[in-house]
Amino acid sequence: MNRVRLLVLNAALGPLDYRVPDDLHVEPGSVVVAPLGPRQVLGIAWESERLPGTEVPDARLRPILDVLPVPPLRAPLRRLIEWTADYYCAAMASVARMSLSSSAALRGGGTITEYRLTGVMPSRLTPQRDAAISALDGEQGTIRELADLAGVSEAVLRGLVNAGVMEPVVVDIDRAYPPADPDHAVPTLSDLQTGVADRFVDAVKARKFAPFLLDGVTGSGKTETYFEAVSEALRMGRQVLVLLPEIALTENFLKRFESRFGVPPVVWHSSQKQSERRRAWRQVAEGGAQVVVGARSALFLPYANLGLIIVDEAHEVSFKQDDGVRYNARDVAVMRGRFEQIPVVLASATPALESLQMAEAGVYEKVDLPSRFGEASLPEIAVVDLREQVPPRGRWLAPPLVQGIEERLERGEQSLLFLNRRGYAPLTLCRNCGFRFQCPNCSAWLVEHRLSKRLACHHCGHEVPSPSQCPECGEADCLTACGPGVERIADEVAQIFPDARTAVVTSDTLSNPEKIAAFVDAAESGAIDVIVGTQLVTKGYHFPELTLVGVVDADLGLEGGDLRAAERSYQQIAQVAGRAGRASKPGEVMIQTRHPDAPVIAALAAGDRDAFYAAETDARRHAGAPPFGRWAAIIVSSEEEAEAREAAQNIGRAAPRLDDLAVFGPAPAPLSLLRGRYRYRLLINARRSAALQQTIREWLHPMEFAPGVRIGVDIDPYSF
Ligand code: ADP
Ligand code: ZN
Repeated sequence: MNRVRLLVLNAALGPLDYRVPDDLHVEPGSVVVAPLGPRQVLGIAWESERLPGTEVPDARLRPILDVLPVPPLRAPLRRLIEWTADYYCAAMASVARMSLSSSAALRGGGTITEYRLTGVMPSRLTPQRDAAISALDGEQGTIRELADLAGVSEAVLRGLVNAGVMEPVVVDIDRAYPPADPDHAVPTLSDLQTGVADRFVDAVKARKFAPFLLDGVTGSGKTETYFEAVSEALRMGRQVLVLLPEIALTENFLKRFESRFGVPPVVWHSSQKQSERRRAWRQVAEGGAQVVVGARSALFLPYANLGLIIVDEAHEVSFKQDDGVRYNARDVAVMRGRFEQIPVVLASATPALESLQMAEAGVYEKVDLPSRFGEASLPEIAVVDLREQVPPRGRWLAPPLVQGIEERLERGEQSLLFLNRRGYAPLTLCRNCGFRFQCPNCSAWLVEHRLSKRLACHHCGHEVPSPSQCPECGEADCLTACGPGVERIADEVAQIFPDARTAVVTSDTLSNPEKIAAFVDAAESGAIDVIVGTQLVTKGYHFPELTLVGVVDADLGLEGGDLRAAERSYQQIAQVAGRAGRASKPGEVMIQTRHPDAPVIAALAAGDRDAFYAAETDARRHAGAPPFGRWAAIIVSSEEEAEAREAAQNIGRAAPRLDDLAVFGPAPAPLSLLRGRYRYRLLINARRSAALQQTIREWLHPMEFAPGVRIGVDIDPYSF
């Protein structure tokens, strides 16, 4: 008899065995529909020897119902799913779900009917209809997807279709993307760039695993060199994945890609329209998507024929997913390269210490672009000591920086002020009674957003309209903004230079591709004098007139006891400094700080990257942190504070006593209340050689917790 073991996707169950009816063909990786009790579930056929489960006697097997018309997940992807689940202590089903798409895409190609708003307003506007219409603006998808998205029933949407407010669109989700031309506009590379590009091209041709660390200063042409490898993969008919840390960077990348290859690449990210995602997924799986640019989730897609992976800005923190499966896309990308037997390029101007260490150990091949392309030189970096150069009361820009901006305004050049804090002010308090506005769901202050006239929590999204009086003492005119955000710095610029044209650049102001494109156009054409932005502006952009970068508060990132704080600060400031100056116009960077002697600041000022990495290496060695030792976190949460604390204490009491492993805590997690859940945390520090994951699994597996308790394991956590 033909039996099959399934990794069941939408159930918190172990693997299950089924019978394959004679008229169905199933192979490892096939996506199938199977009965589970009264329900139907999706599953992926798996090699039973790799997926241990209880043997069910033949007589009790139920038959699978259907095999979906999508290519079976290939062996390299199945191995990646196994590895990711194992390494990050996650459920295999949770990892595998990231590889699949909506059921509409899985159930076959051809045409499907999607719906969108017509622009006609309904005659009767019930609250539900109103909510649906505002939620579905610009969306397109099946009735079921749109109902999920808008949080209304399918009946509400069918009502809107009948009323002419929504219309059907027949979409061919198998329609191909126009082909990219590897030779559309080939740049002339410098000798240095050619040397690097050749290494990549050879590796693509070799069809073997080859991890590279491309270490190149900002403006050295990292993108141009890896585009040559993309071009080779295209000639060989193989697919390419380019991972970018932030969707805001994509606009810029799409433009460059299109001018190099004649067509835009295929985009993959979570805030995409359902219909675009469906088409992209089908084309990835069928091989029609040649180059995919995406956020970290694009890493688990079922590419038909992957030939190359690029991870750009590979040092970025946002490659680490912080809930669900807590994986680091940079590291998983290298593993995918190994399973697929293809090259992987990690590109950065400020590589993570772990990546440099891997290069030093000979695991990654390091390729360098130590100078900027063409005549361009790196900017001059000056430190402004805020203890001596004191900004006026209630202001944050010290005299040298103000003067720097003034000179740029006179010369018609641009300035960029960097402060990694969205909104107007991080804290609002009452001068009369001392009341502070706090999020009801999180242990965090509400941040004032003056542009949208709201107070908002940056952790859970809770928002209230900006109040005019204190809710505690009832006094009016007593609310004070404390500390600066980018909006407040923009205000300060406007007060000092009333004629300057300023732009605030954050995820609030550049919330969609259209706004990003408009900003980039304005900045490139010189229609903006002063850009005030968060880390969103630190990467990727090259504005020709930008000659001054001011770091408003270099000490901000160094607060808190985070082991990676120094590295992250260094990377952010080095990246934003890299925006200053291009070929004909040298740049200048001013770093405002109260700690000019801190290793991060001193290394930046001296332009001595090696000094910074040496200091950082020492600190990490001392702390047993990566790459010298390993850390993991166990996060215990519940809506009941006592329940979370008790579960965490029980875990602490059950901790294994091993020589190569130390357990700290439990203690309240840094955000001890997050989205209405109380959080406790245990930290585990282990020697490199310790069997960390296995120890954690064996430790937690036998334990039982109250139903409201959630346990999350974070291997190689980013912030602790
Ligand atoms: P990085 O990614 O290292 O910051 P980019 O690839 O973005 O560098 O290149 C920086 C700038 O220099 C871009 O505007 C790019 O178009 C230009 N550039 C780099 N190399 C070349 C080249 N060989 N020919 C023409 N322009 C180049
Ligand atoms: Zn909150």
